[in-house]
Amino acid sequence: MADYRGECHCGARSNGRPLRVSPSSNMGAEALPYGPFFSTHGSISMSAKRIDGKAKAEQLAESITEQTAALLADHGIKPGLAVVIIGEDPASQVYVRNKKRRAEACGFHSVQHTIAKDTSQEDVLKLIDELNSDDAIHGILVQLPLPDHLDEQTITQAISPSKDVDGFHFVNIGKLTAGHTADAFVPCTPAGCILMIEDELGSDFSSLNAVVIGRSNIVGKPMGALLLQRNATVTMTHSRTKDLPGVVRNADIVIAAVGRPDMVKADWVKPGAVVIDVGINRVEKEIDGEMKSKLTGDVDYDDVCTVAGAVTPVPGGVGPMTITMLMFNTLRSARLSAGLEG
Ligand code: NDP
Repeated sequence: MADYRGECHCGARSNGRPLRVSPSSNMGAEALPYGPFFSTHGSISMSAKRIDGKAKAEQLAESITEQTAALLADHGIKPGLAVVIIGEDPASQVYVRNKKRRAEACGFHSVQHTIAKDTSQEDVLKLIDELNSDDAIHGILVQLPLPDHLDEQTITQAISPSKDVDGFHFVNIGKLTAGHTADAFVPCTPAGCILMIEDELGSDFSSLNAVVIGRSNIVGKPMGALLLQRNATVTMTHSRTKDLPGVVRNADIVIAAVGRPDMVKADWVKPGAVVIDVGINRVEKEIDGEMKSKLTGDVDYDDVCTVAGAVTPVPGGVGPMTITMLMFNTLRSARLSAGLEG
């Protein structure tokens, strides 16, 4: 379906076009497509393009729904997604509910296993084993974080690599790192980010500098691998990086995946850069004289918009793409299991 290097080859189409929405031209090598203009501190200011992740996710979901119907009609296969949630963490419950809703809207067979917080590791592994052997299930996801007595690595590695639609299994991580993504699952958040960047810059990032802030296994590291695969010159940064603003200022592509509200400011950003904000932070902000709880990213959106070429908002940017990429991976898994791609 998708080789995560260029266009999506799944045949999924929206209005007759490939599922990966191609930009009008590949602007990659010579220049960023924004400008000319002067920085926020120059005489001409600029308002960046708002990258609408919600709209893109909906467009993608439409294609996935069409492809799901076709898979059922032509091959009698319905993609099946099993989500396992252990305990009653309220945020996890919301995430799982949204995933289930989205899976059903795409026409998937959707199963949720809600199990008690004190369930033993042995019992969780037994459930995963059953799901690994269930032919109606093509994707298995265990919602994180787990209760303290469970070992995250043991549990995520127990999921069969061929059903690991989160892309956390070492086999899938290895394939991504080695550039063998034809039959690998790429973690959903970086996979969604790369589609949004490709919309702005085309699929070849030759001669562009990319800076990833954050080196987690689920976002930062796979993000770096995907950018490298597309020929970007990638710099990975983290809490020990010296002069982070100075490093970020060299970037044509910035990915912020830190978990620190409004950390990236306009004076960190190169004019015209594409800025992808992965962060989700809940903060108290004064709105109309009242303190209210609000979601914000790692990028100071209003400030950065005066310099950047394109920026994702929070909410409405990376978040909706992440959940849709989970559906994308599940559909892909169903197609791979039937030998329809890979
Ligand atoms: P982690 O906590 O696993 O990783 C955070 C990374 O940020 C670490 O590598 C850490 O460095 C780095 N970091 C922390 N402080 C600084 C600093 N001051 N300067 C530079 N780097 C720093 O987080 P995740 O990757 O899981 O998530 C990051 C953010 O993205 C969170 O807000 C999370 O909620 C959000 N998220 C959003 C998703 C979505 O769908 N939109 C999906 C997944 C995550 P070090 O390694 O040195 O400690």
